[in-house]
Amino acid sequence: MAITSQGNAMDDDSFRAMWVEEVAAGKYDQSIVVRRLQDLPPNAVTIAVSHSSLNYKDALSAFGNRAVTREYPHTPGIDAAGTVIADASGTFEPGQKVLVTGYDLGMNTAGGLAERIAVPADWVTPLPPGLTLREAMVLGTAGMTAALCVEKLLEAGAGPDDGEVLVTGATGGVGSIAVALLAKLGFRVAAVTGKLESAEFLTGLGAWKVLDRETLAPFANKAIAKPLWAWAVDTVGGETLFNVIKCLKYGGGVAACGMASGAQFQANVFPFILRGISLLGVDSVELPLHKKAEVWEKMAGPWYIGEQLQKLAEDISLEQAPEFLARLHRGHGIGRYVVDMT
Ligand code: NDP
Repeated sequence: MAITSQGNAMDDDSFRAMWVEEVAAGKYDQSIVVRRLQDLPPNAVTIAVSHSSLNYKDALSAFGNRAVTREYPHTPGIDAAGTVIADASGTFEPGQKVLVTGYDLGMNTAGGLAERIAVPADWVTPLPPGLTLREAMVLGTAGMTAALCVEKLLEAGAGPDDGEVLVTGATGGVGSIAVALLAKLGFRVAAVTGKLESAEFLTGLGAWKVLDRETLAPFANKAIAKPLWAWAVDTVGGETLFNVIKCLKYGGGVAACGMASGAQFQANVFPFILRGISLLGVDSVELPLHKKAEVWEKMAGPWYIGEQLQKLAEDISLEQAPEFLARLHRGHGIGRYVVDMT
């Protein structure tokens, strides 16, 4: 079946979707195919997706990470925003603008890198007033996660007068939104990146200073290091996470949400028992829906990052999604990628 030049679904029943297949043992192929509504899971809410976005987890799913997606072929996409077509649960009206982030979307449920999704009603949040569907996807799971990291730091007592806040993986999706949000809230942000050539992107988002990723490497050999930063958001995990913990000032804490450099880290107790450092875990996937809705209201209201939203994102087509996911998989992404399916 042909795909229209506008890229829209061709009839009421068919739609375009990204498709990941295992073509040989351990080798995965990504393409755009035409699917039919009856191929979707029998969930209550069918949504016409206008925008999606790319996250690191989508890259893992697209390249065959079985901890994210057990069975292939599969359509990735942990984020989706669009308009309700039908809702058998009666919770949403046809035509209502909504968004979905996390839960099982794009993991083992056909995901948002498609013009249609079908999901349970308790995964769906009405689009908060103040955000467009596109802006909601500039934020997406990355924005939700960054906002939750900032909330955790504030709940732990963080304030702009405490000193600098470190953000690792700063050019990534979560990292770049964390930089913009913390800067908006008056914090001085030290952005750590492996892409010093993107320093201007980070200062444009409000970073106070930009540090080379290698700055943290020498701390690997120390049990505890000179206190340099008051608080931190770590999107990278692995050895970096504990290097950050070693350098936090007395009473500080790190919101840990990611594993871009690795899931394991070795630690000792000194930063915890000598400086009272807090390790604050963040999950945006299984967070209860009412809490997600509260965070969305915040991001649409007092935490709206306005013009930074424009600087953060590049719009791409569904056809470009595989190429850009490959970049994310290599750690080469910068900011956010919004998949425009209008
Ligand atoms: P991105 O791919 O957009 O960003 C990841 C960034 O991490 C890269 O751009 C790079 O930034 C840095 N990075 C990559 N590889 C390495 C490495 N080997 N060592 C150090 N830094 C590296 O990913 P997302 O922003 O979508 O996600 C970031 C992390 O957060 C992921 O691990 C993801 O799984 C996790 N996550 C967790 C969630 C939760 O609920 N807990 C929700 C969403 C994401 P730079 O070059 O600037 O250093």
